[in-house]
Amino acid sequence: MSPFKKLTIHVESESGEIRTREITPLIEKVLTAAEQAALTPDVVIQSLKEGNQRFVEGELTARDHTKQIRKTVDGQFPKAVILSCVDSRVPVEDVFDKGIGDIFVARVAGNFVNEDILGSMEFGCKVSGSKVILVLGHEHCGAIKAAVDNIKIGNITAMLSKIRPAVKSLKYDGDRTSKNPEFVHMACESNVKKTLIDIRANSPILKEMESLGEIKIIGGIYDMNTGAVDFL
Ligand SMILES: [Zn+2]
Repeated sequence: MSPFKKLTIHVESESGEIRTREITPLIEKVLTAAEQAALTPDVVIQSLKEGNQRFVEGELTARDHTKQIRKTVDGQFPKAVILSCVDSRVPVEDVFDKGIGDIFVARVAGNFVNEDILGSMEFGCKVSGSKVILVLGHEHCGAIKAAVDNIKIGNITAMLSKIRPAVKSLKYDGDRTSKNPEFVHMACESNVKKTLIDIRANSPILKEMESLGEIKIIGGIYDMNTGAVDFL
């Protein structure tokens, strides 16, 4: 359920018939510095979970993006950094029912980290005050399938080499190709877990923030059939 109060309005049809309809008012508020500072990592994680529940139930919050744009001109205070795949079927803001100024989103096919993505995460947390890093993998991921099949083509080869270790490290005696959904799912989860390890290993700043309790670094997998995120 949307946390915002519904309004009942009266609508006149072309035939003159009056009907009542429930609407949720458009949200135009954006996060402020004080609100961001008051958040804890656990509160932010709960907010992501509740937003995802609204997405699953078709209860997305109606936002007035035009007004939100104007209100964020002078600054942004997002609550989380989400690393997602580029997949067009994973609309990150919608998946968590978030709007302008709410979350940083970094995207690369296969949601792995490199120096640039780590720098973006450090900017989001250390400089801009976000409280959570969420690495979001997804089912039916083309990048994961390509890494599983060890596809080699152009710059994709180098990109997939960042995902391959998460595939190679899996102990599995069955069919290790993209034709096997079980193995593809295992590779997807392994890739998210490896990315979490890589973040801590290659960003002393984020690792320290995590050990001080200033941020939490978590993983999740988006299920395309239901819209639900399975938090690992
Ligand atoms: Zn993908």
